[in-house]
Amino acid sequence: MRKLELHWKILIGMVLGIVFGFIMTGIDWGKDFVSDWIQPFGTIFVKLLKLIAIPLIIASLVKGISDLKDISKFRNIGLRTIGIYIMTTVVAISIGLLLVNIAKPGNGISEETVTKLTETYANSEGVQSKMNEAMNQKESGPLQFLVDMVPDNALKAMSNNALMLQVIFFTIFLGISMLLIGEERAKPLKDFFDALNDVVLKMVDLIMLTAPYAVFALLAGVVVSSSDPDLLLALLKYSGVVVVGLLLMIVFYTLVVTMFTKKNPFWFLKEISPAQLLAFSTSSSAATLPVTMERVEEHIGVDKEVSSFVLPVGATINMDGTSLYQGVAAVFISQALGFDLTFGDQLTIVLTALLASIGSAAVPGAGMVMLVIVLESIGFPADKLAIGLALIFAVDRPLDMCRTVVNVTGDATVSMVVAKSVGKLGEPHIKEWDDHYDEVK
Ligand code: ASP
Repeated sequence: MRKLELHWKILIGMVLGIVFGFIMTGIDWGKDFVSDWIQPFGTIFVKLLKLIAIPLIIASLVKGISDLKDISKFRNIGLRTIGIYIMTTVVAISIGLLLVNIAKPGNGISEETVTKLTETYANSEGVQSKMNEAMNQKESGPLQFLVDMVPDNALKAMSNNALMLQVIFFTIFLGISMLLIGEERAKPLKDFFDALNDVVLKMVDLIMLTAPYAVFALLAGVVVSSSDPDLLLALLKYSGVVVVGLLLMIVFYTLVVTMFTKKNPFWFLKEISPAQLLAFSTSSSAATLPVTMERVEEHIGVDKEVSSFVLPVGATINMDGTSLYQGVAAVFISQALGFDLTFGDQLTIVLTALLASIGSAAVPGAGMVMLVIVLESIGFPADKLAIGLALIFAVDRPLDMCRTVVNVTGDATVSMVVAKSVGKLGEPHIKEWDDHYDEVK
C-alpha cells in the first residue's frame, strides 16, 4: 500500500481530535481529562518546535549568507522581501476593509448580545491582559522598533524566542563578517553551521513523525476550552467575514505563485500544507517556522540563500492574516458600538494595521493585543475598549487559527517570489527522516 502522505495523516489527526474534544465536552470529567492527560502532549510538541527555531534560524541564515558570493545580492533580497511583504499586507487589509464595509456584520448585532458578551468578557482576565500588554507596547517612541532589533547580548537574544529579530540581526552581522574574512578563513565556522543546519532539519523530520498525534491533542484541547456555542453563533457573521477574507488571501497567493513563479498553485498548496495544518493547530507562526522552512526549502526548492532570511523575518513581521483580521475587527467593533468611521479613519486603519501586524508577536492571540492600538489610532473611546474586545473575544481562538494559516502561507509565497526574482527557485530535494538510517543502524 502506498504510504499515506503527511498532510493526510495530520488532517486525520485533526479531525479525530475535534471529534474527541466534542465527545469529551459532553462527559462530566471529559474536560479535565483532556486538559490533564491529552493536551500536555500537544504542548510538548509545540515546545519541541520552538526549541529548534533559534538554532535553525542561526544555522540556516549563516549558511545562506556565507553561500552568497556577493554581499550586494543580499541587499537585493532584503529590499525585495520587505517591499513585497508590505504590498501583500496592504492587499490583505484592503480585502478585509472592503468585505466588512459591504457585509456590515456589526450593524445586525443585537443590544442583548452586546450586553451578554460584555458581561461575560469585558472584565475577564483574557481581555484585561491583552489591554495591559497593549499599553506596555504603546509607551515606546517611534524608532523603538529599530532599537529593539539590535541586541546588546547575543546569548540573551538567543535565549528568548520573542527576540527573533535580534537573533536575525546578530546572525546577518556574523554571516557578512564571515564573507569578509574570506572563504578559507571562515571555512571551519561554515562547516560547523552547515552541519548544524543539516542536524536541525533532521530534528524537524523527527518531530514531524509525531505531528499527527500532536495535532489530535492540540485540537481536542482547543475544543474543550472553547466558548459557549451560543456566543459563537452570535458572532457568526463577523467570523464569516474574516474567514472569507482569509480565503480570498489564499486565492490571491495562488495567483501570485502562478503569475510570478509559473509554478502550479495546487502543487504549491499541497507541498506547503503540513505547515498550514500546523499553523492552524498551534496558532503560532513562530512554532510553525521550522516546518515552514523545511517545506519551502526541501519540498518547494527555494534556495537557502533566500528562505533563510525571508521566512524567519516573515514569521515576525509579515502577518497578512492578522492584519486582515485587525481591519475587520476594528470596523466590526465600531459598527456594533455605534462609533462612526470616516473614510480617513479607514485609511488610518490600513496604516496602523500594517504597523500593528509588523509589531505583533508570532504567538497565539498576539493579533488581538495590537488591535487595541489600531482602535486607539482611530480615536475609539478608551472607556469602551474593553467592551470592544469583549465583543470578539469568544471567537478569537478559532479566528487566530485561521489567520495564522494565512500568515504562514504568505511567508512561503513571498519566499518563492523573491527566490524566482533572483534566480534561486530550483527543484525540490526532499530528505526523509531515515535517509541514512541503514548506515547508522
Ligand atoms: N497567532 C498569529 C501568528 O502566530 C498572530 C495573531 O494573529 O495573533 O501568526
